Amino acid sequence: MKVLVINCGSSSLKYQLIDSDTEGVIAKGLCERIGIDGGIISYAPEGGEKEEQQIEMPDHKKAIELVISYLTNEKTGVVKSLSEIGAVGHRIVHGGEKFTQSVIINDEVKKAIEEVSDLAPLHNPANLIGVNACEALMPGVPMVAVFDTAFHQTMPEEAYLYALPYEYYEKYRIRRYGFHGTSHAYVSARIAEILGKKKEDLKTIVCHLGNGASISAVRNGKCIDTSMGLTPLEGLIMGTRSGDLDASIVEYICKKENLSVAEVENILNKKSGVLGLSAGLGSDFRDLEKGYNEGNAGGKRAIEGFVYRVVKYIGAYAAALDGVDVICFTAGVGENSGFVRQKIVDRIDFLGITLDEEANKKRGEEIRISTPDSRVQVYVVPTNEELAIARDTVALVK
Ligand code: ADP
Repeated sequence: MKVLVINCGSSSLKYQLIDSDTEGVIAKGLCERIGIDGGIISYAPEGGEKEEQQIEMPDHKKAIELVISYLTNEKTGVVKSLSEIGAVGHRIVHGGEKFTQSVIINDEVKKAIEEVSDLAPLHNPANLIGVNACEALMPGVPMVAVFDTAFHQTMPEEAYLYALPYEYYEKYRIRRYGFHGTSHAYVSARIAEILGKKKEDLKTIVCHLGNGASISAVRNGKCIDTSMGLTPLEGLIMGTRSGDLDASIVEYICKKENLSVAEVENILNKKSGVLGLSAGLGSDFRDLEKGYNEGNAGGKRAIEGFVYRVVKYIGAYAAALDGVDVICFTAGVGENSGFVRQKIVDRIDFLGITLDEEANKKRGEEIRISTPDSRVQVYVVPTNEELAIARDTVALVK
């Protein structure tokens, strides 16, 4: 079956058409600046030339119309007609406590997604716009919702509750949800396959280190803890997000800088993390690494801070899991930066890990980067959220 995977943001839309039989990508691309002047769409059929077109996309419906016209284009398209697309899988950021796994989308599901929009005001409404646009243009094609939070719903109460008055959990469902769940689920399942072990026999720590970064502890194939919380702001130091901090800082900055809470929250989300720590050198690890190697103090501060936070979480999760068998690195930084991986692994040798320096030079491929005699194995496992979404979609609509 051919499955269209849609990841819809407020002004962008990523898409992939996946053949679920071969699990290969048939075509993929990106629509940017939807609803903003200067729209741009890209389209890359497998084995063909990548195309880019500047075109205004006043709304997501227009964007999906364009995606469909590229996919079905007589010359460069990859399907003869829309009827070849058997299902659509949508990435939905927040499923609240309601969704513990992927579901077929119907009116009730859409209502439930809307109900938790309070928890992800930037993402869920945009995700729903994508769903509605696809429904309008592809009537009768089954749609599936795959939630970023679902994999983490197995966390026990001790891990997901904040130590706040309990009534806030009861009234408002304020708790830790965790994100990047599709990636943590994919990588933790994949490493079991790679090692030829049952998920039930493994204690795994997954480090998803991208622009957004999170880490999870997985036992028996189930997540028992993860670093992001009510929102994706908590946990690791990220590209532009602060991660963990003392909540009192918010009021303190408000007073000192004469800012509103919303303005400070914006700073915590968009101007902090390695960007903030590096005093503006950048949020991209390639720039930071270059700065680090050239002796830039900001680059050094940012990378050392980032690494330290990851190391602290690995230590905490090794304790939470009561031991660890394998640590996986994934996402942009985790898959590509041997520099950052080395700095992390060098600081966790108490776990009995020795880095295989040759293997660690590789980028973006499945590879073991610990020596065979290491007590805990360390792997790079490239994530594939789109494939995971396509798999869930097919499993539900078949
Ligand atoms: P997201 O999906 O959260 O936007 P990604 O997982 O795509 O992020 O990761 C993006 C980040 O990966 C970039 O900000 C960049 O810092 C990092 N990255 C990509 N390639 C490299 C590389 N070769 N070396 C170091 N960092 C890299």
